[in-house]
Amino acid sequence: MTESLVVPTESSASQKPSPAPYVLPAGLAERLARRVVAPARAQTQPCVTPFTGGHLADLPASTIDSVDHAYRAAGEAQPRWAAQSIADRARMLLRLHDLVLRHQDELLDLIQLESGKTRRQAFEEVLDVVGVCRHYARKASEYLRPRKRLGAIPVLTQTVELRHPKGVVGVVAPWNYPLSMSITDIIPALLAGNAVVVRPDEKAALTALRSFELLDQAGLPEGVLQVVLGDGPTIGKAVLDRADYVMYTGSTRTGRSVARDAAERLIGASLELGGKNAMYVAADANLKAAADCAVRSVFSSAGQLCVSIERLVLHEEIAQEFLTHFVTKVRDMRLGPDLAWGNDMGSLISQQQLDRVTAHVEDARSKGASVLAGGRARPEIGPYFYEPTVLEGVTATMACRDEETFGPLVSVYRVSTDDEAVELANDTSYGLNASVFTQDVSRGRALAARIKAGTVNVNDGYIAAWASNGAPMGGMRQSGVGRRHGAEGIHKYTEVQTVAVQHVMPIAPVKGVPEKVWARGMVLALKAMKAGGLS
Ligand code: NAD
Repeated sequence: MTESLVVPTESSASQKPSPAPYVLPAGLAERLARRVVAPARAQTQPCVTPFTGGHLADLPASTIDSVDHAYRAAGEAQPRWAAQSIADRARMLLRLHDLVLRHQDELLDLIQLESGKTRRQAFEEVLDVVGVCRHYARKASEYLRPRKRLGAIPVLTQTVELRHPKGVVGVVAPWNYPLSMSITDIIPALLAGNAVVVRPDEKAALTALRSFELLDQAGLPEGVLQVVLGDGPTIGKAVLDRADYVMYTGSTRTGRSVARDAAERLIGASLELGGKNAMYVAADANLKAAADCAVRSVFSSAGQLCVSIERLVLHEEIAQEFLTHFVTKVRDMRLGPDLAWGNDMGSLISQQQLDRVTAHVEDARSKGASVLAGGRARPEIGPYFYEPTVLEGVTATMACRDEETFGPLVSVYRVSTDDEAVELANDTSYGLNASVFTQDVSRGRALAARIKAGTVNVNDGYIAAWASNGAPMGGMRQSGVGRRHGAEGIHKYTEVQTVAVQHVMPIAPVKGVPEKVWARGMVLALKAMKAGGLS
């Protein structure tokens, strides 16, 4: 493991006024900037840390011409990359796996500085990246190999399904998981033989660029991954408008316009969007474990996690006891801007996020909701810190009942039956993630299957399903289209092609045989195929 990369100029202990400024090592930003496709005398965009609001570095801003250039270079590199064996491409990912672990301290520093999250929550990103690398490196050959399929006429028709890369995949990544969201969607796209043009969010650019540097070090050939930087509506849109396949992560509102643009060009798109995720604590749940997990699942990355829990649905028999555990733990949470292990929650990423959380809490409070914990900003810790907040008495007139907050805010609801809990969990336009706590696992599985969400965790909040890299993850309803992880997460980056070879005789009347006789023969053959159990 390497040393930490970032030097705090002095100790920045938890909850101290005016946290110390952080300084990147000399030359780091300049080195990372060389990976960005941008004009020689590009305008720059600042990187700041939400811990203090302080300036970290300047990176070049790409232009629309840069995006065109990136696509030309990626298009030229892609055929040579696709010609490499899957095994070679997979070996590169296993090297990346090791490099990410070796350089985890610097990556954790960068993630924390750019996102404002705690070290433990940043570490989840490292776990995610190495998990995705290992999974796809080990499974890609199986996912991508040609597959024999039953032909039109057994033996006479020999049919094989092939998977080809799409070409150049365009990726627009969000800011909330600077490492994980910038690279994990690229990994299967590359493994499937595509080139990629990626626009990491400007608030996550340093971490993303450092991870791409590791990808280069792992052996990715020059040209295959092109990086541009710039705002979403201009540069992000330009990246997606030129892609052979679109991978977008962000809000449902933007996702809808991305989907419209892709549909216009008849290009496939995978959209990972918002959520309003519920956790149900059933009457038989282990309440201490459920309360611990609820703290992690609501407040991870200060709630700026698409799969985080924003609604707690409690069975009335245990609601009070659960809340006693939960609210005590929430009030005890340690907030801080330290690049060290031990804090429970960090900062929101920006003034915009702080305004959104504040607006949701104030709206609910003014309309009669009770604040069980939190409910105020903490500028003395850092400019965008907000307390972990629990509300009860939230009604349909309040914005946080149905709108995604994407912050450290959870609303509590009480129900008297499991059916009522399922109904409430499903009473949302979203369908990304959900959680069920019960000591009866088969009951948990049965309830999970009734919840309309792409992932449901039994006795966990989000990480069990998220880290199950062999199984698909993504949204139902307004939470998205397409999946990451598992076979779906790599198949989406391929064009599937059926090649059927017809032997001996055509599927048509042979010369000299009257059509009627041929048709009768075909009917006999069809009956025989059904009797033989053929599909
Ligand atoms: P947003 O939609 O405004 O921005 C998200 C990203 O899209 C940003 O990087 C932005 O620069 C980019 N963008 C904006 N307009 C674009 C356009 N026209 N074309 C291409 N890219 C564009 O959302 P936000 O408020 O910044 O992010 C929070 C939202 O993202 C939340 O709703 C959250 O649920 C969602 N999100 C979802 C996941 C997931 O995996 N499902 C992960 C992270 C964030």
